[in-house]
Amino acid sequence: MRSFVYDQASIRVIFGGGALDRLGFEVERLGARRALLLASPGQRPVAEKVARQLGAAAAGIYAEPAPHVPIEVARSACDTARRLEADCCVTIGGGSTIGLGKAIARESGLPLVAVPTTYSGSEMTPIFGVREGGVKKTGRDRNVLPKAVLYDPTLTVSLPRHISGPSGMNAIAHSVEALYAPDANPIVSLFAAEGIRALARSLPVVVEEPANLDARAGALYGAWLSGAALAATSMGLHHRLCHTLGGSFGLPHAEVHTVILPQAAAFNRDAAPDAMRTIACALGADEAPRGLYDLATRIGAPVALKAIGMPADGLDRAARLATANPYDNPRPIDYESVRQLLEDAFEGKRPV
Ligand code: NAD
Repeated sequence: MRSFVYDQASIRVIFGGGALDRLGFEVERLGARRALLLASPGQRPVAEKVARQLGAAAAGIYAEPAPHVPIEVARSACDTARRLEADCCVTIGGGSTIGLGKAIARESGLPLVAVPTTYSGSEMTPIFGVREGGVKKTGRDRNVLPKAVLYDPTLTVSLPRHISGPSGMNAIAHSVEALYAPDANPIVSLFAAEGIRALARSLPVVVEEPANLDARAGALYGAWLSGAALAATSMGLHHRLCHTLGGSFGLPHAEVHTVILPQAAAFNRDAAPDAMRTIACALGADEAPRGLYDLATRIGAPVALKAIGMPADGLDRAARLATANPYDNPRPIDYESVRQLLEDAFEGKRPV
């Protein structure tokens, strides 16, 4: 076994049906008395229910749209927190809402409690991002990590099939890259393999039977492990490409991950044979890239960039942007091969 460094922040997790009922206790445990509840506009009714549950410990609700955390929204949410004299934030929602909570935590130092309702895994990572002047700036800061995460599968039964599938593939992508990252280690690899296994088993059931709580719990569990794997390792070509396509072409986050993942795995296949074996085994497939592609099609998620709004004449620019700066990836990156990867992703080719 080669030498390694294991350095993972520990986060308190409350997992299972009814976990949300413990929110009041978790807020109190932080010594907080006035929680600002953050939600997306669609999740406002859930936030209102939570506010009733918290009673006097709920300072108010902030439910503005915050995809990619626009700086104006982050500032307005911080102002609201100050005005309401909030002493902690509770995010009820997916990666966008958690991202807004992280921006507030970074700016004001308020402690965060996350109640994730998608499979983004953001609640487990110190990665924050704010969009300013059309550009999303990201970084890592452990101060933005939630003090507690409450995973309650009952909150995810309302997540529609077309969001559940790609969101789960987004989580699988975190684990895939963690397995071949230069700073991978055996402990994180256990998280990643188990995360893929749990998601691959649960997602087909989740999209067939959205109210199946066992499958919903399995998917949340996989998302948790995958987020933790992403938190502990550095990102390679897959995440870089997705950030480029999301940031510069406005493509939807989870869908981009779904489309690029099988192609990025095919790109790295020969350079990361151990990781590919682990991924294939966790998927229950013969081979990792095709296993990822087949899982995406089985759950009705997109597999082609052209189906999610990518313009054909943007592929050159995307390949240039994604290869502009060097970074670690199992197989070295060059313009021609990344351009070919994007072409395959554009058409949605099943990896051969
Ligand atoms: P999202 O948070 O934007 O949610 C997608 C949609 O689902 C929204 O319309 C939301 O209202 C709806 N929704 C959420 N939960 C629901 C539920 N239970 N029932 C019904 N509808 C529900 O999408 P996302 O994919 O979770 O997050 C994407 C964002 O998160 C991106 O900005 C991405 O960059 C970020 N992200 C960050 C990290 C990280 O580590 N920092 C990791 C993954 C994603």
